[in-house]
Amino acid sequence: MAKKSIADVDCHGKTVLMRVDFNVPQDDTGAITDDRRIRMALPSIQSVIDRGGKLILMSHLGRPKGKGPEPEFTLHPTAVRLAELLGKPVAFASDTVGPDAQSKVAALAQGDVLVLENVRFNPGEKEGEASYAKTLASFADIYCNDAFGTCHREEASMVAVPLAMGNQPKVVGFLVAKEIQYLSDTISKPGRPFVAILGGAKVSDKINVIKNLLGICDYVLIGGAMAYTFSLAQGGKTGKSLVEPDKVPLAKELIAAGSGKLILPSDTHCGDAFSSSCNKQVVAAGNIPDGWEGLDIGPETAKRYADIVKSSKTVVWNGPMGVFEMPPFDEGTKAVAKAIADSDAVSIIGGGDSAAAIEQLGFADAVTHVSTGGGASLSMLEGEKFRAVEILDEA
Ligand code: AMP
Repeated sequence: MAKKSIADVDCHGKTVLMRVDFNVPQDDTGAITDDRRIRMALPSIQSVIDRGGKLILMSHLGRPKGKGPEPEFTLHPTAVRLAELLGKPVAFASDTVGPDAQSKVAALAQGDVLVLENVRFNPGEKEGEASYAKTLASFADIYCNDAFGTCHREEASMVAVPLAMGNQPKVVGFLVAKEIQYLSDTISKPGRPFVAILGGAKVSDKINVIKNLLGICDYVLIGGAMAYTFSLAQGGKTGKSLVEPDKVPLAKELIAAGSGKLILPSDTHCGDAFSSSCNKQVVAAGNIPDGWEGLDIGPETAKRYADIVKSSKTVVWNGPMGVFEMPPFDEGTKAVAKAIADSDAVSIIGGGDSAAAIEQLGFADAVTHVSTGGGASLSMLEGEKFRAVEILDEA
C-alpha cells in the first residue's frame, strides 16, 4: 500500500492543502498543554515551505456541535504555537471556507503558511455537504493527508475534499507514511516470530485486534484487566477484579481459536483495594481470593513474556499489563517495556496508554515506532482499511 508522499510532488509555487491533526490538549484557559501533535506535523510542513509552496493547514479541535464557531474550540492557539516552532509568521483565518479564508488564501505568497479555523465548525465537515468540500478543494493544487489520528474517520476534510480535487495530486505526509509503513506494511510481512502483547482494561475494546492478530502472529500475549475475563472463561476465580461477564462466551471462542498462540498470565499481582497502599499478594492466575482484585501480571508472567519478546523478530504492543499509573502495579508493564526496548526486534507501540508508558519510562528512542494515533492505530491493528488513505495516489 505504498502511497505517493509529499516529497514526491513538486510544490514550488503551488498551493498545498494539508489536513493535519492539531487536536491538542488544552487547559481551562485554552493554553496548549502538549504540542506533540503540532511538532509531529513539522517535517511535512517544513518540506512544503522549504520548496516554495504556499501552505494551507486544516484540522479539527475537540468536538464542537458543527453549527458555527464555538470560541473554546478555536484553532487560533495552534497557529500561534506553530509560528513559534517555525520561527516565522503563520496567518490564521477566522473561518474555514468563508470570506476571511478566501481572502487569506488569495494573499498567500511562496513559503507562507495559513491555518484555517476548526473544520468542525462547519456542518459540511460531518455531513459531507458538497459545496463545502468543493470550496476547500478549490483553494489548492495539491492535497496532503498528514492527520494520522483522524485517518479512521471519513469526514469531509479526510475524504470528500481530496475526492473533489479530481486529478490533482493527493498524497500522504511524512507522519501518515511512517504510520502506514509500520502499522500496516511491516505487520503484513513480519519477521518471525511475530509477537503481539495486548493489555488494557476491557476485552470488548480489543476483540477485533485480538482476532486479526491471532490470524497473523505466532503468539498473542494477554495482560491487563482483560486477562481476568479470559480467566473466568476458564472457570477461574477472579475475586473483585474488573471483568466483563457478558464477554465470557467470546473469550471462550478466542481461547479456542487461538489454541497454542494465545498466551494468558500464569500469576497475578493483586490487592485488597484499588490503591498503592493496599495489602498485596501474588497468586496463581484464576485463584484470586474473594475481596481481592487483580491489578497487574505477576513476576512469573512478566519474566515469561519478557523471554518471548527476547526471541521475537517483530513485536506489537498495545495496552498496559496492569494499573501502571499506580505503583507497584506498574511492574509488569515496566518489565514488558524494558524487554521490548532491549530486544533487537522491530518493535511497534500502538498509541494511547502503551505509548505514554514507553515514553514515561524513557524507552521511546529504543523502540522502532511509537504510533501517534489512539483509535486510528487500534483500527489499523484490526486490519481495517482506511478510505481516507485508500483514495490517495499510489507511489
Ligand atoms: P485501555 O485504555 O483499554 O488500553 O486500558 C488502559 C487502562 O487499563 C489503564 O488506565 C490501566 O490502569 C487499566 N488497567 C490495566 N490493568 C488493569 C487491572 N488489572 N485492573 C484495573 N484496571 C486496569
